[in-house]
Amino acid sequence: MKKIILLFCLSIVFISCETNKKPLNSENNFTSKNSEFAIVIHGGAGTILKKNMTPEKEAVYRAKLEEAIKTGYKILEEGGSSLDAVTKTINIMEDSPLFNAGKGSVFTNAETNELDASIMDGKTLNAGASAGTTTVKNPIDLARAIMENSPHVMLSGKGADTFAAEQGLELVDTSYFYTENRFNSLKRAKERDSIELDHDDKKVGFYDAEINNFKFGTVGCVALDKNGNLAAGTSTGGMTNKRWGRIGDAPIIGSGTYANNATCAVSSTGWGEYFIRAQVAHDISALMEYKGLSLKEAARTVIHDKVAKLGGDGGIVAVDKNGNMVFEFNTAGMYRASMNDNGELVVDIYEQH
Ligand code: ASP
Repeated sequence: MKKIILLFCLSIVFISCETNKKPLNSENNFTSKNSEFAIVIHGGAGTILKKNMTPEKEAVYRAKLEEAIKTGYKILEEGGSSLDAVTKTINIMEDSPLFNAGKGSVFTNAETNELDASIMDGKTLNAGASAGTTTVKNPIDLARAIMENSPHVMLSGKGADTFAAEQGLELVDTSYFYTENRFNSLKRAKERDSIELDHDDKKVGFYDAEINNFKFGTVGCVALDKNGNLAAGTSTGGMTNKRWGRIGDAPIIGSGTYANNATCAVSSTGWGEYFIRAQVAHDISALMEYKGLSLKEAARTVIHDKVAKLGGDGGIVAVDKNGNMVFEFNTAGMYRASMNDNGELVVDIYEQH
C-alpha cells in the first residue's frame, strides 16, 4: 500500500513539474507574439574596435543610428507598412556620409561609385533590386520602384539609372557621392597592391587585412508591422576598389535581403562573395521554415557555421513574424539598433554581449 501511495505522490509531482515548466523562450516558441511590431537596422559590420574610435565619433554614429531607427519606428507605431518603414529608415542612412550607401559610398578601382540595393515584401514575396547605378541618390527607392512598377526583379547599370529617371526618382551628379574619407580608402587599397587573385578560395585582392579594418558600412533594415507584414531592405556602395562591374550580395535576393511573412526578414552585411555563396538571408528563412529552428538558432547556424567555415565574415539583422529580433555577426563589431513595440531602443557597435 505504502508503495502505491509513494508512486501516486511521485506521479503527481512529475505531472505538476511538467505543467509548470516555463513556456519555451519566445525565441523558440512561434505561437507567442514577442512584439506586435519591431524594427532592426545595421550600418555595416567589420573590424570596428572601441580603441580605434573616439567618443565623439561614436556619439555621431549612435545618433545617426537612433535617428534612422526612430524614423521607421514612428511609421510602424502609426500603423504604417513595414515596406515604408524599411525604405524611409534606409533613406536616412543613405543620406549620411557615415555609411557606405548613397552619400558616402566607397569607390571602385575606376574611382567611380556604383551602388547596389534591394528590397523584399514578405507578404507577397515580391522583390526589387538594382545593381551598379551611378546617379540615383537613394538606391533603395529605386529597388522599391523596380518591385512595384516594373515587370522585373533586378535591373543593372545604365538601364537601372534610366528606369529611375523614368520613375521620377531623384538623380544626382556623380560627384554627389564623393567623400574624402572613402577616396582615401581607395588610395590606400590601391597602394597595397590589392589585386592579387587567390584562385584557391576565390579571394579577391580588394579585400585584404587592411581593408578588413575599414568598416564596410552597408546599411540595412528589417521590420514587422502591425498587420504582421515583414519587409527587408539593404543598400550599399559595395567594396572599396571593386572592379569589372563587381556586384555584391546586397542586391541579391536570398543573399543580402530576404523577407517572408511565414518566417522572417533578413538584411546582410559583410564580405559579399561569401554571402552570395552561402545564400545567407534565404538560408536563415529556410532553416526556420523547413527545420523549425528559431530565428536565433537559424541566424547563428548560417553566420557562425556556414559563412565562417567558408572563410567569410559579416553579419545580419533579422526579425521574425512574432517580433523576435536578432543581431548576429562574426566580425569584431556591427553598427546596429533595434526597437520593439514598447519603444525600447538598443543601439550598439562593438562585440556581442
Ligand atoms: N556586403 C557588401 C558587399 O559585399 C559590403 C558590406 O556589407 O559592407 O558589397
